[in-house]
Amino acid sequence: MIALAARHLQSLRRRDFVAGAAFIDGRWIVGDQRDVVVDPATGEEIADVARCSASDMDLAIAAAERSFGAWRDLLPSRRGEILRSWASLMRDCSEELAILVTAEQGKPLAEARHEIVYGAGFLDWFAAEGERAYGETIPSHKPASLLHVRKQAIGVAAAITPWNFPVAMITRKAGAALAAGCPIIVKPAPETPLSALAVARLAEEAGLPRGVFQVLVGDPVALSAPLLRDTRVRALSFTGSTQVGRLLLEGAAETVKKVSLELGGHAPFLVFDDVDLHKAVKGAMDAKFATSGQDCLAANRIYVQRGIYGDFVEAFAAAMAQLEVGHGLEPTTDIGPMTKLSVASKCKAQIDDAAARGAQVMSAKQGERLGPNFVSPTLLAKVTDSMLIAREETFGPVAAVLPFDTEEEVVARTNTSEMGLAAYVYTDSLRRALRLSESIECGMVGINTASFTGPPIPFGGWKQSGLGREGSRHGIDEYMELKYVCFGDLAA
Ligand code: NAD
Repeated sequence: MIALAARHLQSLRRRDFVAGAAFIDGRWIVGDQRDVVVDPATGEEIADVARCSASDMDLAIAAAERSFGAWRDLLPSRRGEILRSWASLMRDCSEELAILVTAEQGKPLAEARHEIVYGAGFLDWFAAEGERAYGETIPSHKPASLLHVRKQAIGVAAAITPWNFPVAMITRKAGAALAAGCPIIVKPAPETPLSALAVARLAEEAGLPRGVFQVLVGDPVALSAPLLRDTRVRALSFTGSTQVGRLLLEGAAETVKKVSLELGGHAPFLVFDDVDLHKAVKGAMDAKFATSGQDCLAANRIYVQRGIYGDFVEAFAAAMAQLEVGHGLEPTTDIGPMTKLSVASKCKAQIDDAAARGAQVMSAKQGERLGPNFVSPTLLAKVTDSMLIAREETFGPVAAVLPFDTEEEVVARTNTSEMGLAAYVYTDSLRRALRLSESIECGMVGINTASFTGPPIPFGGWKQSGLGREGSRHGIDEYMELKYVCFGDLAA
């Protein structure tokens, strides 16, 4: 594994992708202060990037504000053309971008390739949504009057993005903001700046004007402070932990910004005894182990009806035994390292807690030999509701399987969580599927499928999983204001 990521990065055609320069007001800033980027699989340094300061952020906000009027006033079709050429450049460079994602984030290369295509899809989607940001005409409640509702760009937007989808979480936010007519400033996670900066190179090549799209990397608190306090920043979009989401919501209160938050998951995955077991196991594998488990949609509480509990655990353990743990750049790898040591430590703490409280732990333990950020795929059976893993998000390849008896009981247990992002239901009963699609308290439900995301769907959560929606026809509204206009005195 040693030097694998460094070798791949050295072989990139696009040397500028690893230059590590921030992108402010149309200029590439190398800076005196640099932060290192490491390969999470080995801990080796693979690049360094400019560390931006709060005053750099002030410059970026001013540049964004200057660019706003001209960008807003372009025809939506012209903004769409630029977004589409950005998407097309991303696809042309998909292999290089995927290597960057795997090198700094750790996910298997095949998944990184998929992320680039998925991420480019949001730019295409919003290119068209910008052209369809229709207003309304309201039947008037006043004589001789005409009532209109218009949608208008809100102003400068900011995005604070996570490390688990370092490309797609940028394009999902930026596509919507830019299509709406808003400039956007992106602060990516310090663990994964390279892919963000490479995407910015392509944004420039696609023709995004100066100041309209900027990327600043550096200390999260130092860089988010100006974004929060500056009245010129009108919208803030964040993806990450609920804990940081709360802080940002509080910080944004002072200037009453429009805030959208995509926060933690803790998804229930319900398997009823009328299902085809193999399909349910395949679904659970997909829902648990994508992105090595570091996914807010990851199945965190797999509830299996008691009659098939033993058979499910056996088949699930057999499927898990096939997973290969390794460096994301090795073609055989299914599970890469955790991007952050803190995530690996949390997984291990949840395993220890479950073991101490009587869970059955099944793991091949092949990961631990590879390095501190690796977590072996681990199945925890006989999990109870009091265990940590049943109460909080894992964000790693640890699968908790809990028995249940009745539909009523499992819905109640599902809904006790303060998280409400996604849920999965496997059942052969149409009536039950319809009932559960109504009764589960969350923003997204997959019925007999673990694969439901993409640009057309409204991605977002209920309760403490977030505010607002990304993607779909709703995503653009996070960056637009409604304006009601009443034309009165129209009688001839
Ligand atoms: P985090 O919330 O700390 O990081 C996400 C983003 O917030 C990064 O850009 C980070 O630099 C920034 N950030 C961190 N602290 C900040 C602060 N005080 N002010 C402003 N910005 C700040 O997440 P984490 O600690 O890296 O991961 C911890 C847990 O968060 C994970 O285990 C997982 O449960 C959750 N998470 C969820 C998602 C998601 O897709 N919803 C993504 C990443 C992490």
